[in-house]
Amino acid sequence: MSARLLIVGPQGSGKGTQGVRIAEALGIPVVSTGDVFRANVAQGTELGQQVKAIIDGGSLVPDELTSAVVRDRLSQADAAEGFLLDGYPRNLAQVMHLDEFLEGRGESLDAVIALVVPREESLSRLTARASEQGRADDTEEAIATRLGIYERETAPILDVYGTRDVVDEIDGVGSLDEVTARIFAALEARGLHASPAA
Ligand code: AMP
Repeated sequence: MSARLLIVGPQGSGKGTQGVRIAEALGIPVVSTGDVFRANVAQGTELGQQVKAIIDGGSLVPDELTSAVVRDRLSQADAAEGFLLDGYPRNLAQVMHLDEFLEGRGESLDAVIALVVPREESLSRLTARASEQGRADDTEEAIATRLGIYERETAPILDVYGTRDVVDEIDGVGSLDEVTARIFAALEARGLHASPAA
């Protein structure tokens, strides 16, 4: 089914996990800028070398570079009928880049899923993930930097999308399945039928 979606939420809100579930149920690819960057770092590509220190410190990769990565990815065949963006756009400049790109294709976002999780909850989930997965940017300092950027730069993009009536605020506190069910219900209300993966 054709669906162009964005999932937004603070780090530790579960947006990565929920994003994969939604995309599977709708048969669309997940486009996660964080995953693309991490894969490049792991493979030691030129892009990976450019962004490694930035990511490890929890800061944002420059907008031009990030937007170029997204334009490339969305231009691949599997994203022609839909996609779920995770982690992009993350500030107002990136919203403008994405608008321009999608408008050029006669497209727009069908829904923006905003996961709402209190700061304390995100912090404790991130700290738990740090000890489980050992991500280089899950140090206490980098976590604080990332949450600060989210509150200052990313949360305001919801005001912009709000004026377009595409935002679904979803309570992100609860079990994974509970949160998934809330998201599917919101998508259903927009005529986007997600069938849970078997
Ligand atoms: P994430 O997995 O979405 O938390 O992203 C991990 C890191 O990748 C971020 O802390 C940034 O350093 C970088 N990154 C991911 N998405 C973006 C973006 N849209 N703009 C700038 N930097 C990004």
